Amino acid sequence: MKTEASVVIIGGGIVGTAIAFHLCKEGLKDVVLVEKSYLSSGATGRCGGGIRQQWSERMNVRLAMRSVKLFERFHEDVGMDIEYYQGGYLLLAYTDEEVELFHKNVAMQQEEGLNVRILSKEETARKFPFMNLAGLKLATFCPTDGHANPHLATMAYAKAAEKMGATILARTEVTDIDVQNGQIVGIQTTKGYIKTSVVVNATGGFSREVGLMAGVELPTESYRHQIFVTEPLEHILDPLVISFTNNFYIRQTKSGNFVMGQGDKDEPPSHKHDPSWKFLVEMTTKMPKFFPFLKNVRVLRHWAGLYNMSPDAQPIIDKAESVSDFYFAVGFSGHGFMLAPAVGEAIAEWIVHGHPKKVDISNLKLERFSKGVSKEKNVV
Ligand code: FAD
Repeated sequence: MKTEASVVIIGGGIVGTAIAFHLCKEGLKDVVLVEKSYLSSGATGRCGGGIRQQWSERMNVRLAMRSVKLFERFHEDVGMDIEYYQGGYLLLAYTDEEVELFHKNVAMQQEEGLNVRILSKEETARKFPFMNLAGLKLATFCPTDGHANPHLATMAYAKAAEKMGATILARTEVTDIDVQNGQIVGIQTTKGYIKTSVVVNATGGFSREVGLMAGVELPTESYRHQIFVTEPLEHILDPLVISFTNNFYIRQTKSGNFVMGQGDKDEPPSHKHDPSWKFLVEMTTKMPKFFPFLKNVRVLRHWAGLYNMSPDAQPIIDKAESVSDFYFAVGFSGHGFMLAPAVGEAIAEWIVHGHPKKVDISNLKLERFSKGVSKEKNVV
């Protein structure tokens, strides 16, 4: 077991492994990643794998556009096929509020250089004839959005980082962060002590608990989010389709299975991630109304994972004020997979060069909550 490291990353999901990969690419030696279970055992391995750039927050658009650039050359850079597919994202608007918001969003996204446009109901019906569009007002479509396999992406980053010299310690839990006079000096794990002066908290649903180990309070809470996968059908659905009003998203995998989920606004925060009967009944009743071809399709597997939420549902990517060299990339809500490549790159640049170089993430600092900038949860 390693007893010393230049940087320790806690958490072996997509965010932690992306950071490890980019740190090694920056030439850092002795990077150690510690994961309490197996790689991608957290939210990452349970997620829908969707990658969208259509956001109402400009910062998310920028981060997601940078991530898409990195996903587009992932195979070349990281060395593994991750079933990346750019079939687009189709966002459905059913209310006047959504119509107004989508027009505003598309204008801002186009300003950022994103290839996105409004589709009328008729155009949507022509392009995607297999959907029941009753009640639809309009849709937005971005052809470079898409999806990938989250397990493969995590493994790819971890393997590439190991090849460049990183050490991945799975089945090893961090139980304490040793801070002396405001400076990190090491971490305690279930398998021994590792001396280090730089730690990154990338622990998803456990970000708050791990933050407290260093005496840093992160305003994050975790919520159960459920999803299921059906038996495979022939390929019919290119884009990932979302309706916020009807509370669903759906995509078809490379092998033909349909993956779909919804949020449950009534659930209190917890670390619960057992699947519920209520979800299964609601989804299997609702989805065939919008996608009639799903009527007799069987559900193969149903599972749940944790959304780690900040007060405004946007990530917190920052460095602690009270403890030196304690970084965190947490609170990703339902969009941590798609943002991970750009976030991994930004944190690695910050550690090695003193600041992120490719994208500006200054809006994602922890201090925004004490300044009261925004406490509205925004998932659109
Ligand atoms: P995680 O993957 O949770 O990894 C954190 C790791 O830290 C875990 O493996 C955990 O075991 C480890 N850990 C915790 N505590 C310790 C400790 N003390 N010591 C050592 N290790 C520790 N995002 C998208 O972009 N697109 C989607 O389509 C999408 N769909 C989703 C669907 C569902 C059902 C869910 C639950 C989430 C979805 N998300 C989606 C969100 C996305 O999965 C997360 O934002 C992202 O995976 C977060 O990655 P992470 O690496 O930060 O966290």
